[in-house]
Amino acid sequence: MIEKEFYPSFLAQAETIFAMSNGYLGMRGNFEEGRPAFQTGTFVNGFHETWPIIYGEEAYGFAKTGQTMLNVIDSKIIRLYVDDEIFYIPTANLLQFERILDMKSGTLKREILWETPSGKQVLIKSERFVSFKHRHLAAISYELTILNAGALVVLISEMLSPSSNQNRAKRKDPRQARRVSDRALIPVESYNKDLRILLGHSTSNSKMAISCGIDHKIETECSFSYTDQCSENKGEVDFSINAQPGVPIRLTKFISYHTSRSSSPNELCSRSERTLDRAVDEGFDNIQETQREFMDDFWSRSDIMVSGSLPRAQQLIRFNLFQILQASGRAEGTGVGARGLTGSAYDGHYFWDTEMYLLPFLIYTSPLIARNLLKFRYSYLNKAKKRAKEVNQKGALFPWRTINGDEASAYYAAGTAQYHINADIIYALRKYVEVTGDEDFLYSFGAEMLVETARLWLDLGSYSQAKGNKFCIHGVTGPDEYNAIVDNNMFTNMMARENMSYAVRTIETLMEKNKESFNALAHKTDLEISEVKEWEKAVDNMYIPYEPESGIHPQDDNFMSRKAWDFKNTPVDKYPLLLHFHPLVIYRSRVIKQADVILAMFLLGREFSREQKKRNFDYYEPLTTGDSSLSACIQSIIASEVGYVEKASEHLKYALLMDLADIGGNVQDGAHIAAMGGTWMAFVYGFAGMRDYDGCLSFDPKLPETISEIRFPITIHGQLLGVDINKDSVTYLLKMGSELVIKHRDKEVKLISGKPVSLKIMG
Ligand code: BGC
Repeated sequence: MIEKEFYPSFLAQAETIFAMSNGYLGMRGNFEEGRPAFQTGTFVNGFHETWPIIYGEEAYGFAKTGQTMLNVIDSKIIRLYVDDEIFYIPTANLLQFERILDMKSGTLKREILWETPSGKQVLIKSERFVSFKHRHLAAISYELTILNAGALVVLISEMLSPSSNQNRAKRKDPRQARRVSDRALIPVESYNKDLRILLGHSTSNSKMAISCGIDHKIETECSFSYTDQCSENKGEVDFSINAQPGVPIRLTKFISYHTSRSSSPNELCSRSERTLDRAVDEGFDNIQETQREFMDDFWSRSDIMVSGSLPRAQQLIRFNLFQILQASGRAEGTGVGARGLTGSAYDGHYFWDTEMYLLPFLIYTSPLIARNLLKFRYSYLNKAKKRAKEVNQKGALFPWRTINGDEASAYYAAGTAQYHINADIIYALRKYVEVTGDEDFLYSFGAEMLVETARLWLDLGSYSQAKGNKFCIHGVTGPDEYNAIVDNNMFTNMMARENMSYAVRTIETLMEKNKESFNALAHKTDLEISEVKEWEKAVDNMYIPYEPESGIHPQDDNFMSRKAWDFKNTPVDKYPLLLHFHPLVIYRSRVIKQADVILAMFLLGREFSREQKKRNFDYYEPLTTGDSSLSACIQSIIASEVGYVEKASEHLKYALLMDLADIGGNVQDGAHIAAMGGTWMAFVYGFAGMRDYDGCLSFDPKLPETISEIRFPITIHGQLLGVDINKDSVTYLLKMGSELVIKHRDKEVKLISGKPVSLKIMG
């Protein structure tokens, strides 16, 4: 991704697009020189402050504690002065400007030729990355050469506590981060020693601690001197250099962050020092080499290759996959925020986005990351049990949005009411287990989650006489947030059924095959066999809304009778509706924010006939605004399946461009990570027609006019499958592993390692 000119009007978006992150530590794409900036942003996953949610009218069981990911010390600043002239990009005479997001090496590179007012030409080459290998480390190489003269150069390397966790614009959109107190970081420790500075801070409510350390190495044949100093919220090392014409000056800056809930900032400073010691020893170039190796490995397992006329499709999909890695790669012991670590929208909260939109890609390409994310969910099971009690329910209820495991949604109608999060997590758990074969994970962690989530569903629903004694679930919100607190949301009912059914099967298998594990589980969860029977009964009797006359699955009990939305008279500038209409106006209308029935048809495709899918798609598609970035990708998949391949391509285009064309107008606040995962799904589940029921892979590829070929790898049970699709045929090749049986359309195909099998697409 190359930016060839400095565009002040794209400053905010470019900070998101050029962000560097490893899933633990993220830095927005601010210029090293510190200014200009829309939001100087540095985020550490999970590092947050809490605050009491104040309601005008409180009610029982409302979420009490807000959580906001904090913007931490900005440590990437290197200010440059040449003969006391400051280098400030907007006013500088730039003879050359190029910024490159190098997704192959995981590095952000910049090359600028600046002519100072006195005609000195300064060539500045900088590179920076957040290390995937060393989770707590980032590094910058800042190299400058004055090409045509000598000059006095001053480089000031800084670290600075931010004055706000928010961007500089006033909060106009509820999706933007809430402003936490101006100085949320309380200074505890600060010291400097010979080119190295350490700052330690804590937070007052969440009681978290953070350290940030910087260290430097300067390489040049020019003479130089330096001083270092620090105060509670700031540190700097100033280098004065007698630059000679044509002689390069290279400043390397190593940066380390450590965070903890239990250790003191002082102790964390020692940890940052150890990280810095190792980094200085290893050197920028060697660490960068490990970054490249990490990326090579990632791409070999994950890349999608696309040819055709869909504009920039290749670059866009790679950008998306790269961002998913950046959001999740080293997110160990944490979740993934809705905007990763590229911006502060949604306060950095973790949603169902992770399980439904990221995990499919991660399970099939980086199963270890997927495992870490599921394990992280498990670590909040106790809190989920507590939350279920708070909302008068048995079992466990995972929070709709959270950082620390507590429910952080203050708007219960589109928050707590999205009980489907439980089933989404279990859906992803099952996919993980089936695709990896990691039964150990299922029995050690998953089974307990299954018991507690199944308990919630059984307790939440009830048998309704009015619906022929079927098991109904009332008063919930499905994925579509424009229809809130509804009865029998079809998606929720089907996903709950799936959740309970997987719980029953897992318990039965455990009882049969692993008595010891079963006993341990039964003991831990106080499980009675009678409960399992009750789940089974609910599964068998789940109410699924369906209208036999029209052949449509209503989204919920009242959906079909709501007032039609006047799409014709809703001008484009009134979207997203949530920013222009009172929720009640939206709730009483037949209008949809994001795929709901359409999503169910993708996730639980076996439950619908092809005709039903087509009818439902035809019915729901015109009602769907796509006001959520999570919608277009799913609409694309089902459009492919029901034969609207060109429509699928249109939806995919929209999903692919979500960030780089700033479709939602809010890229400045962070990248839409879920939509990015959705684009992988649109290629793999959409155009390649992959389905994975019970862990068995099947493909039914068809490409739209705009795409002539796609190629991608899939990891299943530790084996690596290559799929190469062109207009007429598809080639399956087992690249690693011994043998794999897949299905091409309805036909079984046995693949032997190293032996490609090519089959016709149509007919
Ligand atoms: C969507 C949710 C999503 C959230 C965070 C909302 O606009 O409606 O489904 O989880 O954004 O991405």
